[in-house]
Amino acid sequence: MARITIVGSGIVGMATAAMLSRHHKVTIIARNLPGDEPSIDWASPWAGVSFVAGGCTSAREEKMQLDSFTELWRWGEAYPESSIRRVRMEDFYDDDKNPEEVWWKVLPEFRVLPAHVLPKGAKAGTSYTTLVLNPSIFLPWLKQQLEGWGVEFRRMHLNALSDASHLRHDVLINATGIGSKFLSDIADQDVELVRGQTLIVKSDYQKMFMHDNGKDYTYAIPRMDGTVILGGIRQPDSTNPEVDLEISKDIVRRLNADLPNVFSADLAEYDIIGHNVGIRPGRSSGIRIERDLRGGQNIVHVYGFSGGGYIHSFGAARMARDLVEDVLFPLSRSVAKL
Ligand SMILES: Cc1cc2nc3c(=O)[nH]c(=O)nc-3n(C[C@H](O)[C@H](O)[C@H](O)COP(=O)(O)OP(=O)(O)OC[C@H]3O[C@@H](n4cnc5c(N)ncnc54)[C@H](O)[C@@H]3O)c2cc1C
Repeated sequence: MARITIVGSGIVGMATAAMLSRHHKVTIIARNLPGDEPSIDWASPWAGVSFVAGGCTSAREEKMQLDSFTELWRWGEAYPESSIRRVRMEDFYDDDKNPEEVWWKVLPEFRVLPAHVLPKGAKAGTSYTTLVLNPSIFLPWLKQQLEGWGVEFRRMHLNALSDASHLRHDVLINATGIGSKFLSDIADQDVELVRGQTLIVKSDYQKMFMHDNGKDYTYAIPRMDGTVILGGIRQPDSTNPEVDLEISKDIVRRLNADLPNVFSADLAEYDIIGHNVGIRPGRSSGIRIERDLRGGQNIVHVYGFSGGGYIHSFGAARMARDLVEDVLFPLSRSVAKL
């Protein structure tokens, strides 16, 4: 059994702990922990959360998404208290992708939607059974589950990954999200801070709706508890924690244009429970999952998931686990010959 330290207790750090704790002694250290008052310093508590397949730039990312979907599906079945629920997805887009050839045609009850149901501007749409969850329930629940499996959580703020070297682990996992821009020995300038804003309203709407026109994306995520999350917005290089009501008004105006029989265009007509402002950990050169040897520490980086940390979570965790195994059990020349 090896000793693994994971820096970061967001969805990516905890999914990685779920994979590695089956065989290793895992400690998670983080500045922000599940159950804390939500803070703009980390992304996971602010997410929708829905599983919207797509946005992949490689077969590797498609595999990550499929692996995550499969794992989250299993968890939802085994642990209903996790808040994971199955819902019907209707997903529309304005670009030229062929809906018959998308990777997610393997998802349950997939079908291409007929032209007459497409919202204005959309060229195609697909439907499948997908998953939603509520991070304010899911994250503390997952922490408790991991603790039951022997994972230890410690609050710690690092200025550099080298600050953790005294913990004497075999491998250090870097799952710090936007933190990788600010850790002095990583200082990844490709990390981008992408502001998001949503509102939670009372509603019995029970389908997952998504319309991505390339510039804006408009969505309604049912939490299956009488509330729905309405979004969205991508604002690169903004970290303003204040709610911008003009954005909320624009979100409901867009939703009304797409679903006029369900959502009003007038913000005053909503029973608003709250607003969310969070910063997505983007990365201009893409998701980073790779090995590194720095300051005498064996490191595996797992960050840069932007608006898809949950969508990629368990798939990314499996890849990180494989890299940890490579570090712990390097191929020797004699084994390689077998
Ligand atoms: C409005 C909004 C809606 C979203 N909706 C969805 C959705 O529907 N589906 C989806 O898949 N994704 C969604 N996302 C994106 C998702 O939230 C992120 O991709 C995901 O949370 C990233 O997880 P992470 O674990 O990489 O990082 P984080 O959640 O940011 O966690 C980082 C961890 O590292 C720790 N850390 C950082 N720096 C240090 C340091 N120096 N020392 C010690 N600890 C440190 C932090 O304390 C924290 O524990 C949404 C995001 C927003 C803002």
